[in-house]
Amino acid sequence: MSILVVMENRGSAWNRMSWETLAAGQQIGAELNLPVSAAVVGKGIGALAQELTAKKLAKVYAVEHDLLADYTADGYTAAVEQLVKASGATHVFFPHTYQVRDYAPKLATRFGQMLVSDVIAVRMEGGKPTFVRLLFQGKLNGDVRVSGAGPYFASMQAGAFRADGLEAGTAPVEAFAPTLDAGSIRQKPEAPFRESARAVDLTAAEIIVSVGRGIKEKENIPIVAALAEALGAELAASRPICDNGWLPMERQVGSSGQTVSPKVYMAVGISGAIQHLVGMKGAKTIVAINKDANAPMFEVADYGIVGDLFEVVPALIEEIKKAKAS
Ligand SMILES: Cc1cc2nc3c(=O)[nH]c(=O)nc-3n(C[C@H](O)[C@H](O)[C@H](O)COP(=O)(O)OP(=O)(O)OC[C@H]3O[C@@H](n4cnc5c(N)ncnc54)[C@H](O)[C@@H]3O)c2cc1C
Repeated sequence: MSILVVMENRGSAWNRMSWETLAAGQQIGAELNLPVSAAVVGKGIGALAQELTAKKLAKVYAVEHDLLADYTADGYTAAVEQLVKASGATHVFFPHTYQVRDYAPKLATRFGQMLVSDVIAVRMEGGKPTFVRLLFQGKLNGDVRVSGAGPYFASMQAGAFRADGLEAGTAPVEAFAPTLDAGSIRQKPEAPFRESARAVDLTAAEIIVSVGRGIKEKENIPIVAALAEALGAELAASRPICDNGWLPMERQVGSSGQTVSPKVYMAVGISGAIQHLVGMKGAKTIVAINKDANAPMFEVADYGIVGDLFEVVPALIEEIKKAKAS
């Protein structure tokens, strides 16, 4: 039995979720006493494979072929299928990216299996994994057990595992040349999707005031915007605020938004879901304002105010103005 983590890169750059998935692999490997290997797939991937040799891994597979120069679902499925068979991996983990969503379900079905997607935790029971994933927009956690002897395929949700827990070590690189045939690759790769340039660079901000669903409606956003202005801070938000269109997407902090590390991060009416925390836990000082004393945000906060933001924020603004005037 062994664990294989299939990393993701675009050109010479890693997808940062790959590191979190590698950390998940190491964590589960340590629990089960299983060797963990990583794979990098593409063409001209020597430097990326080399980078992985500095991690605590049994092996680094450099899966290289001319037909893997650009991502295609057929090419990647065939290449990783051959690697899984050759390596004998019993647990195959991926970061839950768009690319993985595209090809990994098809790969899993080649083994008569399914991909357990968007996993937030893995528990081992009787030597078999139980994958935990969110259901109904995060309201419930579901346990997923896959029948059969594996291989088990799972993709890990962004932010669910911490990349800073990655263990260093030394690992050998093993070149793996899959047998691919151009005729069986049906997709024609186009230029990769590029996000438009961001007008707001939250990563450079020293102070950030971030607003969450506690603000209740769009019309109330100016209350928190006034606090940001009084502090000379950038205004940011949790995902539901941006999803609702109350603030632009580029102001979203979290696993699917920006990762920030300001001197001060003030979270106003934000519960502290893991996907938000991963985007701001690097802040030097975290201040939380929340009416629920049990909100997870208080677990990471250096200073906390348990109270109604509609009372606390105006009072804070008044005090800041007084302090500035004196
Ligand atoms: C794949 C995936 C990616 C995600 N990416 C992100 C991401 O990048 N960023 C992100 O933020 N989320 C992300 N999420 C969503 C995340 O799971 C949470 O749903 C979200 O962070 C919750 O936002 P919130 O804290 O504003 O809202 P809620 O969880 O609803 O919390 C609102 C908080 O406001 C408090 N409150 C209510 N009224 C008041 C009041 N009057 N005064 C003071 N406090 C009050 C409540 O006590 C509560 O704690 C992602 C989810 C998934 C599944």
